[in-house]
Amino acid sequence: MKSKRLCPICTAEEAEFLHSQKFTLPVGHPLSSGYDVVACAQCGFVFADTTAAQADYDKFYAHYSKYEDAKTGTGGVENPYDWQRQQGTARQIADFLNNPNASVLDVGCANGGVLKGLKELGYQNLCGVDPSITCVENTRRLGIEARQGSLFQPFRERAFDCIILSHTLEHVQDVQGAIRWIEDNLKPDGVIYLETPDASRYKDFLYAPFQDFNTEHINHFSLMCLENLMNECGFSLEISGTKNLPINADMFYPAVFGFWKKGACAHSRNSKKDESLRLKIEEYIVCSQEIMNGINARVDELLARKLPIILWGTGQLAMKLLSETSLANADILAFVDNNPINHGKVLHNTPIIAPDELGGLGAPILITTLLHHQAIAKQIKRMNLKNEIVFLK
Ligand SMILES: [Zn+2]
Repeated sequence: MKSKRLCPICTAEEAEFLHSQKFTLPVGHPLSSGYDVVACAQCGFVFADTTAAQADYDKFYAHYSKYEDAKTGTGGVENPYDWQRQQGTARQIADFLNNPNASVLDVGCANGGVLKGLKELGYQNLCGVDPSITCVENTRRLGIEARQGSLFQPFRERAFDCIILSHTLEHVQDVQGAIRWIEDNLKPDGVIYLETPDASRYKDFLYAPFQDFNTEHINHFSLMCLENLMNECGFSLEISGTKNLPINADMFYPAVFGFWKKGACAHSRNSKKDESLRLKIEEYIVCSQEIMNGINARVDELLARKLPIILWGTGQLAMKLLSETSLANADILAFVDNNPINHGKVLHNTPIIAPDELGGLGAPILITTLLHHQAIAKQIKRMNLKNEIVFLK
């Protein structure tokens, strides 16, 4: 098939269809309510064949950033596992640079966690950029310079020794454009640090079905794909590897990373096709579908009781369940979410409310997350709510 979006790495238009992903989005959400996941026939990269443009994503991250809430979002210092992850990344970068005077820019800095880690290691010349003004303010509160912006707005007055894109590139529509932007803002001997989820190992860390096929992650890198991208853009590899990031006490998330410098000769073009990524993603799809079928059976059991229900959680899994399971036809009294950015939005013709607005609504609560369900169940008990709690599994 011909893809609507050219391969973000090699610009080929011939791709193989892998999966169709649908979402029920809150009213006014700027992104598309579904896309096909495809594999590039030329380089093997796997990506969302979305018609949403970079401008739509810029708008989304400026106004809908779930990362804004420092308590529930990632990328800050408040969640101990997330903070541990970012300190680890900061240590890796400091070990590589070995120069506390180096100027470092973190693009998509969220709440400033990696920069805070570098600051604690003695780095002074730090700057963050994020599309969300709340994230920018949270970073400034850590005593770190930050400005609101995206990857496609110029940084005119200076160039950096190191630019970090940690868990940013999988969100970007124009991937090659992002790397060109970095090149323009990097000193000639500067280094770029890239880190993204490791799509070749999604299946080994599968907690929620199709977790990585979400509205935000539209690029699925393996280490080879990341290396191919940087080859195509004329950078040369210094060090690369894989790591497992802690999410909580017993869950991890697989990632790939690398350090690159501007290449001696532009556009070395020694890319090789990643033959195995497509197969790994196909296995991930099969396993995800099995979990989804189990969830659907459980939802059917609940709905057979002919009761109205309350859904707690309006994240990526909820948006899929509302499209792809019998929840599409459920009598939903309210959606509850902890993240203030979601309050007041309307999903599936029903308002999203804060937990403390729930009082008196006496229906079973279905917790629609598989990552934070235990924490939410504890919260419901702490709030002394008498509602029956139903889990997805
Ligand atoms: Zn390609």
